[in-house]
Amino acid sequence: MTGPLTAAQAEIDQAGVAGALGDLARGDRLALVVPGSPRLVTAVMGALRAGVVPVVLDPATPRAELEALLTDVDPARVVRGADELEALHHHAPAELAPVPLGRPVHVTSGTTGRRKGVWSGVLAVDAARALWAEEADLWDFGPSDVHVVVSPLHHSAPLRFAIGTLLAGGSVLVPGSFSPAGFLELCADHRPTTVFTAPAQLQRLREHGGAEAALAGFRLIAHAGAPCPEPVKRWLVDAAGDAVWEFYGSTEGQFTVCSAADWAAHPGSVGRARPGRTLSTDPDGTIWCTVPTYARFTYWNAPDKTAAAWRGDAFTVGDLGRLDADGWLYLDGRRDDLVITGGVNVYPVEVERVLQECPGVREVAVYGVDDERWGQRVEVAVVGDAGAVDGWAREHLAPAQRPKVVHVLDELPRTSTGKVLRRALRARA
Ligand code: ATP
Repeated sequence: MTGPLTAAQAEIDQAGVAGALGDLARGDRLALVVPGSPRLVTAVMGALRAGVVPVVLDPATPRAELEALLTDVDPARVVRGADELEALHHHAPAELAPVPLGRPVHVTSGTTGRRKGVWSGVLAVDAARALWAEEADLWDFGPSDVHVVVSPLHHSAPLRFAIGTLLAGGSVLVPGSFSPAGFLELCADHRPTTVFTAPAQLQRLREHGGAEAALAGFRLIAHAGAPCPEPVKRWLVDAAGDAVWEFYGSTEGQFTVCSAADWAAHPGSVGRARPGRTLSTDPDGTIWCTVPTYARFTYWNAPDKTAAAWRGDAFTVGDLGRLDADGWLYLDGRRDDLVITGGVNVYPVEVERVLQECPGVREVAVYGVDDERWGQRVEVAVVGDAGAVDGWAREHLAPAQRPKVVHVLDELPRTSTGKVLRRALRARA
């Protein structure tokens, strides 16, 4: 791959993109159906600079779904593929003051079903810049940072980290895809200082072997998006120490941060509320979070869904959890994944935490399947050797939590952002 995209180059490139979009009206959508590259980052920045709303879509989306998304988004222009993206950059720079109009529209991972567009609710406010500046502040990005993008840029967090770094004067590497060997080579060549990863990528690095020295060279390794298996977290913290930070967030907004020391002192917690946020939980465990005005959002073309997500100035994405007296949050997973078996609530993530420690098990996913007798029954998909799972479950889990069926798979079905697709496992069953 080529060298890093510098802040100075990004400034030039985004002005060209803004120029190319000069014929679009404020608030028009620009759909970007392109693979990850530095050009995608500068296209997003340039669109916002021109007052156009970038909508980043995964080019691997099945055709019919992609067309349905585009109909929903109703873009003024669609950029498909690397050549069209390149052409967007070859234009006289726009002489525009930077006036970001809103946040990029992300279409979420679709883990729970249909993908949804998440949209800033306050178009007149400089929402994008405020959010990126917040990111730059939180992670202390600066001119000496070289950030490496290892997750798909149609996901919100990788884009926030990349643009946050550039706005702080740092540089960004966008290899376009992730493999453990490619990542280690890139670390040797470019010595990146910061990275945002999903736990699934950390798991692959651990299994690949020999990643510890490269990880020790980072000043920040942030992970989020899914629970990090405890053995993976222990390995990561052993290798990279205080550089390791977890956060809990979603496309809609950011909830917590948790340092390596916090994690050691509060095992299993995803941290405490980020600055400017307040967390609370309902008696059923639903997590609510207040956000600053600039971080408010609506769902694109879905007013009912928006109304259901907000209660005053707090929103929920349907995750369940517990807050202790000092404000440490422990996640119990998504409300939709909760398994009610024989009237007992079983939280898949709790069962997964236990089964991850079972000898022979490399990866594990727990889910509920409709059952005539119990309403739902607990099933588990295991990658690795499942021989010890039954015995381990009897020893370490309450009767209702024990899986009734154990499936052995070569790999778990995952989204492009590394999340386990429980609904695909349920459908299989
Ligand atoms: P969709 O809503 O369309 O199904 P998605 O929710 O998977 O897509 P994201 O917004 O990227 O897409 O996912 C956010 C979710 O990921 C959170 O609501 C939470 O369930 C989970 N998550 C995020 N961070 C963590 C974390 N640190 N630990 C465990 N789970 C996490």
